[in-house]
Amino acid sequence: MLLQPRLLPRFLSISTNPRFSPFSPRAAHLTTVPLPITSPPILSPIIPESELDLSVQNPITLPLQKLFVPPETNLSGDAKSAHSRVLTGSNIVLGPYARDSQVASAEYVKSSVRTADCPSDGLPEFALIGRSNVGKSSLLNSLVRRKNLALTSKKPGKTQLINHFRINDSWYLVDLPGYGYASAPKDSRLNWEEFTKDYFLKREPLVSVFLLIDASIPAKQIDLEYASWLGRNRVPMTLIFTKCDKRKKKKNGGRRPEENIEIFLSLISKFFETTPPWIMTSSLTNMGRDEILLHMSQLRNYWLKH
Ligand code: GDP
Repeated sequence: MLLQPRLLPRFLSISTNPRFSPFSPRAAHLTTVPLPITSPPILSPIIPESELDLSVQNPITLPLQKLFVPPETNLSGDAKSAHSRVLTGSNIVLGPYARDSQVASAEYVKSSVRTADCPSDGLPEFALIGRSNVGKSSLLNSLVRRKNLALTSKKPGKTQLINHFRINDSWYLVDLPGYGYASAPKDSRLNWEEFTKDYFLKREPLVSVFLLIDASIPAKQIDLEYASWLGRNRVPMTLIFTKCDKRKKKKNGGRRPEENIEIFLSLISKFFETTPPWIMTSSLTNMGRDEILLHMSQLRNYWLKH
């Protein structure tokens, strides 16, 4: 049985409602009408386009219906102008809620055993989750421009905990334990599932889950299952493709990251009625770093306003 969607305002890029399919008139209207950009209604000015590096060509050219268009983004005109607001290496359109997103301060706050023990100050938060070795610690450190902030959560005993890091004294990055340890005993795997799923379903200030997927290797069943579980339970999700700097290797199927991403997105498309937001990253080159922060800022500001 499907759970009811939460009542909290969220960026829902997904829908399990069979009446809203990508082929419904509503979706057709959203995606095929030509889209120029008009000024944002409330939070103006947003970051001027001149300050955003949107000029770099996206490595993947996307049809309009595969873009993630944030709510209240009033686009009209032609496809070209819609694409001019797509963050580099992603399908994410920058909407009216994007603001200054740089990290000025980051501090480890606490590690919680249960959802109920997490900070209770109500600040919005984003949870990072992914298979072990996907590059989660590297990404977290790259986002906050620190070498080892995430190491705190790798200390022995902290691996099965919900780790909160406060950013700019106004929001949290949450590091959740990695899944998919091949050698983990079945019991501990089941415990892990209960523990993180409880967090996803009950944590009220959770704005969005950021599900990390290694783009240097072919899609893994466990990642597909994870994405589909989040979709079915209507947990807002952004896919973060990691290690996009890595070139193809024969043992990994000989595919480029872009090809692995395309295959992953097509495999999960049956679980989602609209394409979830996704973005390519590399912690080695910092590709996607500023773009993730901008995306987080628009999700956060929308969440705070509603
Ligand atoms: P975690 O277990 O998910 O926290 O993964 P780590 O951040 O510890 O990274 C696992 C391995 O992948 C390490 O050897 C990292 O150096 C490597 N790695 C992480 N991010 C990247 C990346 O963006 N590009 C490349 N080429 N390697 C990476």
